[in-house]
Amino acid sequence: MIFVLFVDATAHTPQTSLSSISCKSQSISGRCSTGRHVDRNKRAQQKFRKRLLKKYPSCIATGETETELLRAAHIAPLEKCELFKREDHYSEKNGVILRNDLENDYDRHMWIFDPSGKVTVLFQRWIHRNTIASVNLPSNGTGPANDLIALHNNLAFEAVKHHCPHCWKYVGEVNRDDHERGSCEAIDNIGEDDDLLE
Ligand SMILES: [Zn+2]
Repeated sequence: MIFVLFVDATAHTPQTSLSSISCKSQSISGRCSTGRHVDRNKRAQQKFRKRLLKKYPSCIATGETETELLRAAHIAPLEKCELFKREDHYSEKNGVILRNDLENDYDRHMWIFDPSGKVTVLFQRWIHRNTIASVNLPSNGTGPANDLIALHNNLAFEAVKHHCPHCWKYVGEVNRDDHERGSCEAIDNIGEDDDLLE
């Protein structure tokens, strides 16, 4: 008996953001030769958003209701899906609705919230630092899971160390001083009274 192994030449083409999710349970090494994983992730994301929009008809931080601007934010990020249970990846327990700019900033760890809804700003020059102090979470226990919020927040505290406190660019630990001394574009604009994270 002869076994023939077909190798798909497209297996190593550059990945889109959706297919680059490096989740063992969704696609080994995050690569996908067939597009099935990409489609599956897209569908899962669409359903995730739909379910969350029923639960949170507006942005939990700003009250924005314009559906086009609303995004389903993952609390525990899918890039770190090996750190939490597979059934939670697209679970309502792992999501909230945020306006697109706030979702982006949340993913970039500029700000976090705790299970009570209290907001902590990690990037001290975040544009909303003086206007958003809390988010609206359901008080009846149907909101995001505490352990997933804790996971997100721990990742965020870790991420702070790798970002320039002035411009929030990812600089890594080694290059941060060089970046601050040399190439940080925000640093010229810093006033003496700026209360920056250290
Ligand atoms: Zn910088």
